[in-house]
Amino acid sequence: MNYFSTRDTTLSVSSAEAIVRGLSKDGGLFCPESIPKLTDDEKKYLLDASYRERAAFVLGKFLTDFSEEELCDFSEKAYGNGKFDSDATAPVHMLEPNLGVLELWHGPTCAFKDMALQMLPHLLSAALKKTGEKRCASILVATSGDTGKAALEGFADVEGTKIAVFYPKDGVSKIQERQMTTQSGENVYVSSVVGNFDDVQSAMKEIFSDEEIRGKASDNGCIFSSANSINWGRAVPQIAYYVSGYFDLLKSGSISENDEINVCVPTGNFGNILAAFYAREMGIPIKKFICASNSNNVLTDFFNTGKYDKCREFHVTTSPAMDILISSNLERLIFNLSGNDDKTVKKYMSKLKSDGAYTVSAEIFEKISELFYGGCCNDDETLKTISNVFSEHNYLIDTHTAVGVNVYRKYVKETGDEAVTLLASTASPFKFADSVLSALGIDITSGGEELLRILSKTTGQKIPAPLASIFEKEERFVNTTTREELPDVVLKFTEGAL
Ligand SMILES: *Cc1c(COP(=O)(O)O)cnc(C)c1O
Repeated sequence: MNYFSTRDTTLSVSSAEAIVRGLSKDGGLFCPESIPKLTDDEKKYLLDASYRERAAFVLGKFLTDFSEEELCDFSEKAYGNGKFDSDATAPVHMLEPNLGVLELWHGPTCAFKDMALQMLPHLLSAALKKTGEKRCASILVATSGDTGKAALEGFADVEGTKIAVFYPKDGVSKIQERQMTTQSGENVYVSSVVGNFDDVQSAMKEIFSDEEIRGKASDNGCIFSSANSINWGRAVPQIAYYVSGYFDLLKSGSISENDEINVCVPTGNFGNILAAFYAREMGIPIKKFICASNSNNVLTDFFNTGKYDKCREFHVTTSPAMDILISSNLERLIFNLSGNDDKTVKKYMSKLKSDGAYTVSAEIFEKISELFYGGCCNDDETLKTISNVFSEHNYLIDTHTAVGVNVYRKYVKETGDEAVTLLASTASPFKFADSVLSALGIDITSGGEELLRILSKTTGQKIPAPLASIFEKEERFVNTTTREELPDVVLKFTEGAL
């Protein structure tokens, strides 16, 4: 199966090439030419398969230039070896009879990004060999917090690669920052950037599509690649956990074979919820996608009006991984729902660049409205939701997951739709311990490690081992740069001068 650019379908590449390149050179995102459908026999197989088997299977359906043997091996390496603190890898916790929480944070950095970023380095290493690429893959990451650490953890000391991570200076939690600045590995670099996440992501996208910088990097023996959710190699492992979550619900008897489910996802860059959309295209019976946003509610407005308008105030919230005004992966949804119409996508994206807004056609909007519900909540509601869920169920959720639960409840109230819903829980509550503690009404004056201890004591839950260790490690990276300096910093990184 080949992949083409959302902005030019004449640009078609293999799955290995799509993974190596990350972003198409015209600025478009790589999308599969068609989406494989599950047969009845395959569904039977998946029902009884383990997480690792399910993941390897889904990967095989999309990444046709990788062998079954390779993918099974990668799946073992990514999700086996005690890397996840749950045997189920991504277990479903039934919070209520109609609400299953898909826990995606059992990996080494305690956020859902691990689900894809434990896999991507294996895919990329193999893809470099398949495409005959001899240059070093230089992974450039713009992160709102969780991707950075998960990518560092995945790529540290992986042969043939090096990785530079840039995060918005005041846009990540103390724990997230410390996770990144203490990262070990010979091939890693970390710096903060003055500005917000969109500034960092836009600067990074410009570097990717700048021929001159690419040329200079190539002279330094490097080819740029991306570990951001625009890389197709991240999308596929994410499709796998929705497939897995559905079959877990079926297996446990929470739903029966003829039931459709809803999926609710706290959303930022639109990568996670898009994976659920692809799972539906594969034949997983999903009726509605509930897209949950924080006060940066550009997607809520989009799903209500058909107009995507990023010209608005940017809010720093207690769910920082969703403080995003340009949801890059939405481009893939529009591409798919427009019937792979590259010209339309290109038109919308250049409007977004020039005017900061675009409005989709009536036909596309109709399809979108049928499938998606957009909702949002502010910080106050987020914290109240954490406290309510904890007192009602003795179950602790982080701020991002709380946005999901809040919007899920609004959806049920508005529509009366009580179909069983799979809710993506995207981070361990310990990762956002300061906000979670204040949600529980506990005054905090201390920082860092002490926060984790207090949260553990208050709730009786164990501090995840990967977080317990970061305060013992030394900070290796205390760099700050500006958006303007980024191209130079990136080139120095490719020279090996940092
Ligand atoms: C990245 C992230 C999100 C947003 O996911 P997208 O794929 O960007 O929509 C939500 N919650 C947490 C904890 C995250 O790290």
